[in-house]
Amino acid sequence: MTQQFEKVRALTGMKDVLPHESAAWETLEAIVREWLASYGYRNMRTPVLEHTRLFARGIGEVTDIVEKEMYSFRDALNDDHLTMRPEFTAGMVRAAIEHNLLYDRPQRVYCMGPVFRHERPQRGRYRQFHQIDVEALGFAGPDVDAELIVMLARLWKRLGLQDIRLELNSLGQPAERAAHRQALVEHLEKHIDVLDEEARRRMHTNPLRVLDTKNPAMQDMANSAPRLFDFLGAESLAHFEGVCARLQDAGIEYTLNPRLVRGLDYYNLTVFEWVTDRLGAQGTVCGGGRYDGLMELLGGKPAPAVGFAIGMERLLDLWQQSEAETDTSECDIYVVHQGEDAQRRAAILAESLRDAGHRVLVHAGSTGFKSQFKRADASGATVALIIGPDELAAGQASVKWLRMEEGDTRPQQETLPFDAIAETLKTRM
Ligand code: ATP
Ligand code: MG
Repeated sequence: MTQQFEKVRALTGMKDVLPHESAAWETLEAIVREWLASYGYRNMRTPVLEHTRLFARGIGEVTDIVEKEMYSFRDALNDDHLTMRPEFTAGMVRAAIEHNLLYDRPQRVYCMGPVFRHERPQRGRYRQFHQIDVEALGFAGPDVDAELIVMLARLWKRLGLQDIRLELNSLGQPAERAAHRQALVEHLEKHIDVLDEEARRRMHTNPLRVLDTKNPAMQDMANSAPRLFDFLGAESLAHFEGVCARLQDAGIEYTLNPRLVRGLDYYNLTVFEWVTDRLGAQGTVCGGGRYDGLMELLGGKPAPAVGFAIGMERLLDLWQQSEAETDTSECDIYVVHQGEDAQRRAAILAESLRDAGHRVLVHAGSTGFKSQFKRADASGATVALIIGPDELAAGQASVKWLRMEEGDTRPQQETLPFDAIAETLKTRM
């Protein structure tokens, strides 16, 4: 006897999208591509694996992602330090530099696909999840910051999402951040007794991030900390006001959240998040902002840029709470048959129906009509075609509508010659 193979399961926090779930994904992806195209964004596809130092440098050494969430390993074959992308921006900027994409003009680009973070899995938090990542590379003005946000509002509207709101902040420029940082470190030092271990470790390396804490014991300290927003100079404020004015033009409401810092190091000026209360603890559907320093940080010519990432699992979850009607059927037409000749004729008929644009399944194998009709019904088809010996002899198929609605005037069942079926169904489906 052979030894039984122990079943292999998917990795913790990594989900299979099963056939009955994939229609929602595909519909969403199609809507998203159309939406992005309508704003002139073009798709690019970067590798899942990159050199670890790209993320360490690009995202920042002292961030949640780089400190504890990356899938990093040594390639046993050549000793390279590699990392599964935990986000898209660093890789996209790397590609833009490597291929000199901004040589003659700025670029509006996007990526869509899986990213990887070693986090504690829970609703809305997985170890492999998917992002729609949109970047406007080489654009400096507040007009493009606002355009990105307006664009997102359009997507939410297109999807019929409810209860999603915009939070906005400005992180200013490096000099303003430095002045604020000094004041902040002093504040943290004054309250050292309430800081937890992580905060103490970070207070000199990434003090801004300390304020992002969820530790209840640190909330008073965080609330009374000096606010970066109060350190902004005239130019930074003008940029921020430029964004706000354009959001007002578009009728988009927002709240200023001075504590919004985002988890990545590279941001400056505008940062924003779209959040909802409908997803439990993981309520941020989309986060983004400006990162004018990243190109240079990664070895390219300095160029301003702004972008955002949408978490697709969270977006799908929220979408499915609104109208989200997706077609999960396997086909439009299910062909049942009796006898080998009828089965062969059914296969030929199905090909001609596909030529005419229909989605068709021919019952596989030979079972009784009853079980074939059960399968036809389960397939979600709107119509069944029946080819038995009599129909075959007459060169016809019976057409049976499986989902008649009240008041439907179509004949529920009729017989049509093989070569008339495709056209007739087209007018009636
Ligand atoms: P969070 O505060 O929820 O950890 P983040 O700041 O780490 O989010 P970003 O790096 O801004 O998230 O990623 C953009 C979006 O990707 C988030 O707004 C969220 O919708 C989604 N996202 C982030 N981490 C996960 C995850 N582990 N599982 C599923 N979606 C995620
Ligand atoms: Mg995170």
